[in-house]
Amino acid sequence: RFLSYQATFKASDLEVEFADPSQLKFKPKVEDLKFGKDFTDHMLEIKWTEADGWGKPKISPYHNLQMDPAAKVLHYSVELFEGMKGFRGRDGQLRMFRPEMNMARMNNTAARSALPTFDGGELIELLKKLVSIDQEWVPHSESASIYIRPTMIGTEPMLGVQRPTEALLFVILSPSGPYFSTGFQPCKLLADPQYVRAWPGGCGAMKMGSNYGPTLAIQKIAEAKGMQQVLWLYGEDHQITEVGAMNLFVFLDKGNGEKELVTAGLEKGLILPGVTRNTLLTLGREWGEFKVSERDITMAEIIQAESENRLLEVFGAGTAAVVTPVGEIHFKDQVIKIPTMDHDQPLNQRFYNTITDMQYGRVQHPWAPII
Ligand code: PMP
Repeated sequence: RFLSYQATFKASDLEVEFADPSQLKFKPKVEDLKFGKDFTDHMLEIKWTEADGWGKPKISPYHNLQMDPAAKVLHYSVELFEGMKGFRGRDGQLRMFRPEMNMARMNNTAARSALPTFDGGELIELLKKLVSIDQEWVPHSESASIYIRPTMIGTEPMLGVQRPTEALLFVILSPSGPYFSTGFQPCKLLADPQYVRAWPGGCGAMKMGSNYGPTLAIQKIAEAKGMQQVLWLYGEDHQITEVGAMNLFVFLDKGNGEKELVTAGLEKGLILPGVTRNTLLTLGREWGEFKVSERDITMAEIIQAESENRLLEVFGAGTAAVVTPVGEIHFKDQVIKIPTMDHDQPLNQRFYNTITDMQYGRVQHPWAPII
């Protein structure tokens, strides 16, 4: 609805300024990696102005940004980001995973943020170049990866509450180990209906920083209660939307011999259209072994299924960890226990294996193009 590619930058205009060997940073060991803490030696920047459009992409040594204190991003959160990954396969090749989906989402968010759009194919070429330049930072491990963080901010130094006439797109890279400290330990979720993350007509389906800042205090409440993540509910009937920075999947026994994989639908705009979500839905439909539904699912339905031993698995799905098994949901005064990992071959692990096989080149798949 908001999309327009009136103009774009071109990967072929890229200028590269390599870091001096004396500037190269110390690379942490895979086992010491903490998510989003270490950054590689280079970054990508592309400036935009309303008057001149996109400038030339530039890769240069990682550095602080300078901006005017009146820059719109600092006052009105004119900001968006993406989260994607690069992987080092067992064949030594570097791969990405469905990057065109991140580019489409980034452009959607840009249009809704009054930030400029661009040709996602051009940015993919530039991401490949950046990862290749910093390829020694891509962990030699099949449980680690390089996290790619494309970001766009409104930089115009003007306090008017109007769309920015200057912006900066930048990309930084961060080597990343397994995302959650609990590993494959099922995590516990706090589902407190007094907090709402997104609403119809809002921006919940967009990857804007302004969706995330307000969740942090609630995340802290969950942690203080001994839970790892917040399960966001919506509406009087407590519909399940998503978890922290993941979409949520529920695997149910329908009681009639049929099983059903359920996740919230996109039509209300309450959830981020996850790349992993789309991947699980597509794989589930390809396998054709159970029903796959994008529909409302409420806490009442979860509680009922659990009481009838029909609640098989609940798991989060996102780029950071692929899948994250959920063991408990704390809702009002109830603790709903879910036997997510207590099956012979949990569905969430099958998804994890199928997707990581593609990402690490154990299986060649068009979803995981070589960088
Ligand atoms: N929901 C939210 C709110 C997120 O931030 C993310 C992470 N991007 C996801 C879901 C999962 O999306 P993806 O599979 O594209 O990482």
